[in-house]
Amino acid sequence: MDSKWMLAEMTQPAAETALGKGTAILVTGSVEQHGGHLPLGTDAIAALTIALRVAERIEAPVLPLSPVGVAPYHLPWAGSLTLRPETLIALMVDVCGGLAAAGVRRILVVNWHEGNTPSVRLGADEMQRQHPVRVIVAESHVITNSLYPDEMEFTHAGAMETAAVLAHDPGLVDIDQLTGGDPVNEGTKGHALFRRRDVFPVMKDFREVAGTGWYGSPDSVNEARAREIIEEVADHIVTSMDEISTALVDRQPEPEEEER
Ligand SMILES: [Zn+2]
Repeated sequence: MDSKWMLAEMTQPAAETALGKGTAILVTGSVEQHGGHLPLGTDAIAALTIALRVAERIEAPVLPLSPVGVAPYHLPWAGSLTLRPETLIALMVDVCGGLAAAGVRRILVVNWHEGNTPSVRLGADEMQRQHPVRVIVAESHVITNSLYPDEMEFTHAGAMETAAVLAHDPGLVDIDQLTGGDPVNEGTKGHALFRRRDVFPVMKDFREVAGTGWYGSPDSVNEARAREIIEEVADHIVTSMDEISTALVDRQPEPEEEER
C-alpha cells in the first residue's frame, strides 16, 4: 500500500510541517513464524497497513519503529526474531525525543502483537515521563477481533492475520502453501491459558499453544472483505482517539494544582 504519510519517505520540510501539527503515529509489530502461508513480518505489516489508513484520516506521519518486536517464544522456528523488552522501550523513548522536539504532543502507538503489549505500556509511560506528550495505544489485533468476533478469530496465522496481510499486499499471502495447523479448538484452548486475566502463566514457547506453530482458518477470508474490515478498524481507532482526547481535556488538573 502506497502512502504519502511515511515519515522516512518525507523530505525534511514536509516532515517539519506534518509533525508541527502535533500528532505522530508509531508502529510496533513482530517478525515471527506464521506457518507456510503468511510472511514472517505479518504482525509488522498488519500494524503498518492499519496505521497508514489512520494516517490518511488524521493526517499524521507514520514511523515504523522496528519491524521486529518482543517474541522470544517463537524463536524455535528459524527466521523468527526478537527484541529484549528493554530494547523496544528504549526505541520508543529515544524517538520520542525527536518527535517532541518537532512539536509532537500526541503519539498514537499502533500495535499488532500480544507479546509487545507489556513493553509498549512501559515504553508509553516512560515517554510521558520524559517528554511533554500524551501516548494513546491502539491494540489493532484486539480491535479487529472485537469488531468481528466470529469472522476474525483471535488465532495465530488464521483469518484475522490473513485479512490484514491481504489488505496490505495480497501477493504476500500464499494460501497454496497452507499446511495443516493445529485444530482450532486445541489452539484456542492452549492460547486461552496465557490470555487469562486473573491468574496466568507467561509463555515460554509457542509450542505450548500449538505444536505446528499456528492454528486458525486463513482460507476463510477474501481480499475485498479483508480491505473492508481493515478500513473499519482504522475508523474505530480514529473515533476512539477523538473520544479519549475530548474526555481527557475535561479532566485536566487545574494549572495551580499542577504546580504543587
Ligand atoms: Zn501474528
